[in-house]
Amino acid sequence: MSPNKQFILLGPPGSGKGTQAKFLAAKLRVPHISTGEIFRDHISRQTDLGKEVDNILKQGLLVSDDITNKIVADRLNQADAVPGFVLDGYPRNLVQAAFLNESTMNVQALDLELSDDEAVKRISRRWTCSVCGAIYHLDFKPPQNSGICDIDNTPLSQRSDQAENIVRDRLVIYHKQTEPLLAYYKREGRLIVIDGTPPIPQVTENINKVLQI
Ligand SMILES: [Zn+2]
Repeated sequence: MSPNKQFILLGPPGSGKGTQAKFLAAKLRVPHISTGEIFRDHISRQTDLGKEVDNILKQGLLVSDDITNKIVADRLNQADAVPGFVLDGYPRNLVQAAFLNESTMNVQALDLELSDDEAVKRISRRWTCSVCGAIYHLDFKPPQNSGICDIDNTPLSQRSDQAENIVRDRLVIYHKQTEPLLAYYKREGRLIVIDGTPPIPQVTENINKVLQI
């Protein structure tokens, strides 16, 4: 059993990062913390930080590192996160990574590796039902009748962020943002690389094996 339960998850869109973060947190019995969720929580509770973030987001601006760091530190100081945590969507850059390093004991970065072609294949072959929200995948979970939702017969549609060119653009941004982080955690001896290509349950199993949990 690994004594360390402080993890961050890195991985491109389509790597199943959010799903694996949830599984890992449940397995370790620590909270799964995503910055989006903390932002929404502060906004709904109308805290000072929440009001500030709400104002920034309403103007379509990015929340600064300073505010993001404050909000994450505040969340990590809550009692349930003392035994550990799985962070998802943070840190996004070296400023945030350095801050996290200073405010925690022993964070390890888990990187779910996936080729760009595989990421594009996974995301751009995903179709959703606009009525019931069901998600289909042309390779892994095709609808029984082509282009039609199994549940309510609604014609399936593709969200604009699932189109191949948009996914490619997101991947370029992802690599630009994440490569310095990977280099940073590698240098620190805190990087664990996991192949994100196999099916989700297999990746979960491989993570648990590597972490000996
Ligand atoms: Zn449907």
